Amino acid sequence: MHCVSSAIKVIMDYNLREEFDLLLNQVTNKIEIIKEIGIPLILNDTCHILEKIRNEIKDCHKCVLADSRNQAVSGEGSSTARLVFVSDFPGEESNNKGKFYLGNTGKLLNKIIEVTGIDGRDVYVTNAIKCFVPENHKPDDKEIESCREFLFKELERISPVLICAMGEIPIKAILNIDEKIKDMHGKNYFFSGIKVIPTFSLNDCLINEEHKRLVWEDIKVIMKILNLPFKNVLSKVK
Ligand code: SF4
Repeated sequence: MHCVSSAIKVIMDYNLREEFDLLLNQVTNKIEIIKEIGIPLILNDTCHILEKIRNEIKDCHKCVLADSRNQAVSGEGSSTARLVFVSDFPGEESNNKGKFYLGNTGKLLNKIIEVTGIDGRDVYVTNAIKCFVPENHKPDDKEIESCREFLFKELERISPVLICAMGEIPIKAILNIDEKIKDMHGKNYFFSGIKVIPTFSLNDCLINEEHKRLVWEDIKVIMKILNLPFKNVLSKVK
């Protein structure tokens, strides 16, 4: 108790009240989140594996895309997710900040997740290719294969109920199939016993209304499999 009152005196003496309030808010938020999640001890172990994968990705130079990236972007979300979205590769904003969910595609993915109404603790998002791909470069089989190892490690660790592969690159990485997405639509695919829903990429959805409509069809299939209620889906997807 004596230590606490001495610390408060230092804060007041040195006019550090603002910094102290900020720190206190952050700590309080974290405690609230931890309380809400009810983190089980086993999480350390699980996170440790995903953290190890993130570190491997950060330092990876296995293909030429290492030269075009600012920051490699690893997957984000729950290590016990029931649903994993796999997108193609990080956009410019993600490349600059090293974070997922940025730019227009990030906003769209957020909206998709929001519409499903799935609990945030049940979702993991990642890319098939972890480094930025310049506009004039189409990732070839060699690059997809080089990065596949990380994706497989993530999927094997999380072992979700469903994987939603968004676009040609994730489909190639996960299923090793070159078919047109339109022809794959509605068919059954599996990765290590996990059901895979192939659909169009987020970028595609932003420029092609028909593809966007088909993605929403797939989202409804996902919701049905995961037993998520269909409340207001139609009004939200437009
Ligand atoms: S794209 Fe994948 S394999 Fe290539 S350098 Fe980046 S992390 Fe490594």
